[in-house]
Amino acid sequence: MNASVFQTPVDYLKGVGTARAEVLKKELGIFSYEDLLKHYPFKYIDRTRFYKIRDIQPELPYVQVIARLTHKEILGDKRTKRLIIQAQDDTGVMELAWFQGIKWAEKSLNIGKAYIIFGKPALFNGKAQMAHPEMEPYSPDTLKRKGNLTLQPGYNSTEKLKSFSLDSKGLQKLISILLEQHAKDIQENLPQYILQKFKLINRVDAYRNIHFPESPELLYEAQRRLKFEELFLIQLRLLKNKLLRTHKFKGNVFDKVGQYFNTFYQEKIPFPLTNAQKRVLKEIRLDTQRGVQMNRLLQGDVGSGKTVVALMSMLLAIDNGFQTCMMAPTEILANQHYLSVKHLVGDDFVEVALLTGSTKKKQRAIIHEKLLNGELKILIGTHALIEDAVQFKNLGFVVIDEQHRFGVEQRAKLWKKNIIPPHVLVMTATPIPRTLAMTLYGDLDVSVIDELPAGRKPIETLHFYESQRLQMFGFIKREIALGRQVYVVYPLIQESEKLDLKNLIDGAETLSREFPLPQYRISVVHGKMSASDKDFEMQRFVKGETQLMVATTVIEVGVNVPNASVMIIENAERFGLSQLHQLRGRVGRGAEQSYCILMSSQKLSREGKVRLETMVKTNNGFEISEIDLQLRGPGNIEGTQQSGVLDLKLADLATDQEILLLARKTVEEIFAHDPQLALPENQILQQAFQAKSGGLSWDKIS
Ligand code: ADP
Ligand code: MG
Repeated sequence: MNASVFQTPVDYLKGVGTARAEVLKKELGIFSYEDLLKHYPFKYIDRTRFYKIRDIQPELPYVQVIARLTHKEILGDKRTKRLIIQAQDDTGVMELAWFQGIKWAEKSLNIGKAYIIFGKPALFNGKAQMAHPEMEPYSPDTLKRKGNLTLQPGYNSTEKLKSFSLDSKGLQKLISILLEQHAKDIQENLPQYILQKFKLINRVDAYRNIHFPESPELLYEAQRRLKFEELFLIQLRLLKNKLLRTHKFKGNVFDKVGQYFNTFYQEKIPFPLTNAQKRVLKEIRLDTQRGVQMNRLLQGDVGSGKTVVALMSMLLAIDNGFQTCMMAPTEILANQHYLSVKHLVGDDFVEVALLTGSTKKKQRAIIHEKLLNGELKILIGTHALIEDAVQFKNLGFVVIDEQHRFGVEQRAKLWKKNIIPPHVLVMTATPIPRTLAMTLYGDLDVSVIDELPAGRKPIETLHFYESQRLQMFGFIKREIALGRQVYVVYPLIQESEKLDLKNLIDGAETLSREFPLPQYRISVVHGKMSASDKDFEMQRFVKGETQLMVATTVIEVGVNVPNASVMIIENAERFGLSQLHQLRGRVGRGAEQSYCILMSSQKLSREGKVRLETMVKTNNGFEISEIDLQLRGPGNIEGTQQSGVLDLKLADLATDQEILLLARKTVEEIFAHDPQLALPENQILQQAFQAKSGGLSWDKIS
């Protein structure tokens, strides 16, 4: 379809009209011909198989039968009126029923004739029955004529749509009209040589067959072609953006390593860097010398030491005369970064300031001024950083922690804080699956810290059922006797906040009986406490004054206590995998062997079970993220919901990895040979940047 036909409002299609167009928009977000064409079936009903009446079971989905009509009668009074027809094959008799359209059915269906009867079987008075089946006169010819049209599409619809006769069948009708009238306008949008190379069917055939498959094989080919197209076009845009950026945007050149970096490296850093940390620093160093803006994603497991890498990159920027900032998604996290950076740099080395929503007005004014005159070199904060009032003299390097919780527009806003856009380093809290990274951050370069600091002992993870609670208490006691500290974490989910809070309070009470004063002391921290109370309790734990910290997930990102060696997670089945992994990362930070105990009820969903088994089996965040994706699908991975980039209609990042990798590689090769897409065979790809489909503004993503 050429672009203009694609964009035709759905109102114009024969059989739609204003009222139906309105509900299509409201209920399914179908505005244009393109939207309708991309309302793909969610299932296909197999019409290759014919059942014998004897074999019909009520559990079966839609089935078809060839049978002869033997008897018909209209039953009931005015209210309960129905048409009942008996149908028979060589194995038995079944009943067909109509409660509506009785007159028409009664007249058009002939006793003595054979029909292909298609419907959902039920059991009524011990007899097979179908209500409102589709009826088609049967002759050996009908089967031939129907050719291979064997898979019937099933479309998602809604009650509202059904009241406008737009059930699955109604939608099918509209799509068939659209294809009939406009198939000729569907133009190929991929280069011929790519179709040939990967044996992809052309676009028209793909659209035809995804809606009305001629065979299961062609359906598969149609899906493969359209998934490839979908992923290919995303990669094309992402990599084009990346290319543009590297050409269009000059980057600040960090050509020297100076006092700040060297002093930190030689005198302040309390540990040797891992090889992976060194490698990533080298990558960043090279990137920031090229005169091109850096956009880099830093992936690393919990505890792999991303912060120090970020800090050293910032010091490099400062050595070259620039200011830097680090943005975190929550106040707690910003505060945590502030404390760890301050701790790392020590006093009298470089000033570090914190800016969040709760920064006092007076302090805020001082920060603003010091940023403007260039005095302040390191600013850490929340999205308070991107407010217009925050103006830098010369911002050169930006670190964004857990970027996937920020919108892409926010990323862009930070750029504009300087004439030459600052270099950007994006960090995620736990690794994200490769396919997701490729799609969500496909325009960024990637660095990976794939090594933990030396001497870390892998955390040992155990799964205990409620019945093993006493055993768990005994375990805690032994660890405390060895001088260690323990976290006990409860889930806190918005919808059941009250109940969760009660769980925590009850749990804390049980613990205080099991671990009585004066031998044991317990800190309790939850979201309903005031900030200062929370802080007080946390500090007691940090200082070792309390041995147990009972908390909701506020501690997920909150504290760093190397002496804590046990993490108990209550109702562990209610946490997502990445959250469990993140929580577990709170222990294992000191020299001692650490443990994580997952407490769960006896009853577990299949998925819950897999999650807990995964945690017991592996400490590897990269592996865990892949399993998480398989379990939940990309839409549910934390932080991706708002992204829009993942609005995939057909492709699935969990199951279509291979196609994605192929698409990515293909696009990379194309740009390597033909960055302008100027070769005749690539001209066709220019369209991808004109079509405004998808409702996503791509220029915002960079
Ligand atoms: P994350 O990657 O999860 O953000 P952090 O940067 O918070 O990890 O580092 C986790 C802990 O490991 C911190 O206490 C940090 O000081 C320490 N650390 C970082 N790098 C090293 C290293 N090379 N050797 C030893 N400890 C390190
Ligand atoms: Mg971190």
